[in-house]
Amino acid sequence: MPRRSPNARASMTPEAVVKALTAIYGLPAWRPHGDPMTELVLTILSQNTSDTNSGRAFMRLITRFPAWEELMLAPINEIEGEISVGGLAKQKAPRIKAALQAIQDARGDLDLDFLREMPLDDAKNWLRGLNGVGPKTAACVLMFAFGRPAIPVDTHVHRVVQRLGLVPGDTTPERAHVLLEALLEPDLVYPFHLLLIKHGRRLCHARAPRCAECPLLPGCPAGSTMAPKPPRVRRPPSAAPPPGA
Ligand code: SF4
Repeated sequence: MPRRSPNARASMTPEAVVKALTAIYGLPAWRPHGDPMTELVLTILSQNTSDTNSGRAFMRLITRFPAWEELMLAPINEIEGEISVGGLAKQKAPRIKAALQAIQDARGDLDLDFLREMPLDDAKNWLRGLNGVGPKTAACVLMFAFGRPAIPVDTHVHRVVQRLGLVPGDTTPERAHVLLEALLEPDLVYPFHLLLIKHGRRLCHARAPRCAECPLLPGCPAGSTMAPKPPRVRRPPSAAPPPGA
């Protein structure tokens, strides 16, 4: 039974959204990669920058410090130097180092595999106990590494679910994590996340959404106010009156 948003503005279920977006973008493959430490570091690096830049910063980092222990023990200024290509290095370098140190202190090693079996809310809370780890980063680790049904709400997901009315318009990203997880069947979380990001990048842009091309338009409360109206059909000029009429 599809779950419906309690928000009165929503007319589409998440299932219907996934179905419509799958028709234009294809169904994202389900590929949890099983490496939560990589996901954690990569997600911290990805904060407020593009995937390309954070990917470059990550590659430089693991080339210079191939073992997590080396990274944890590295001087902050050296970490900063390696990740400067990704932006905000002054904030991210101490955040990464502190997160690794906190994991080491709590667990005695740098291995997050225990989160795979931990009850989902406990696993989220454990990760969020790390300095600089918010709900989005915690959900990225749990979903991308283990395939667990925690949805990361990034800027694209947040914007599109608000426009669709799946969450109220004044919902914070933090609150949207809770509301969406209550709304989504576990097997829908991964495709929903990836399809909404793709949709936010391709059509549902922040400034000028391309509503007229969007398959969600018939069920989108925001789209019905933003889509350009079709041009008025002009009536052909009536036939010229006969001479002498
Ligand atoms: S109709 Fe417009 S606002 Fe609604 S989801 Fe599509 S692009 Fe976004």
